[in-house]
Amino acid sequence: MANQWGIPKHIEEAVLKRDQRCVYCGCEFGSQRATMRSWEHIINDINITTLENIALCCVGCNASKGAKLLCDWLDSPKAKHRGVLEHKLAPVVIAAREHAKRTAMHTAGSKDSQSENRITTAAQSSFHPVDQ
Ligand SMILES: [Zn+2]
Repeated sequence: MANQWGIPKHIEEAVLKRDQRCVYCGCEFGSQRATMRSWEHIINDINITTLENIALCCVGCNASKGAKLLCDWLDSPKAKHRGVLEHKLAPVVIAAREHAKRTAMHTAGSKDSQSENRITTAAQSSFHPVDQ
């Protein structure tokens, strides 16, 4: 199920082993649609297929996050409402969030043009125009 994302096999296997629960809400994966596991790019860039960015989360969290930036989503009432709380986050999510905060100022300029298109939607939401 991971192949469509171009996730390397060894990453896929390591993540399947590591993430036994949703990395966001901590729910156990099940057969109900909302708790089925799904592949997640923690930072919304499909070019980043590292162990630090690939994770498994439940379909409910995946749908709730959508194209939102990780930080924005984690802070949103929507995420908190579905039980995505600080103490439930997997270490990989916390690390990615810290990394995203540190590099937020450089992200837009450091991407090559190929990946730029893919992150445009997510990146734009982090820019708040200043009314003059
Ligand atoms: Zn979840």
